[in-house]
Amino acid sequence: MEPRFREGNVRRSELGKLWVSGFRVFRGRPIPKACAGCPFQRLCRGGCPARAYAKLGSFNHPDPYRPFIGG
Ligand code: SF4
Repeated sequence: MEPRFREGNVRRSELGKLWVSGFRVFRGRPIPKACAGCPFQRLCRGGCPARAYAKLGSFNHPDPYRPFIGG
């Protein structure tokens, strides 16, 4: 959706390679501070960073759709 999130073209590169080498902005996200103390933190890790970005404009928020009760 935004140029900085583009990881390549599946017509020119293997999808598996793009998947493994890319998307670091999502994979490397630290657990949001708002999740501190949540009992589901290790499992959930703040939920989906793409949904947090789409809804709140930042990866630093927990998933706004609260994947677990703790959110
Ligand atoms: S359940 Fe909610 S508060 Fe707990 S880690 Fe997930 S998003 Fe954060």
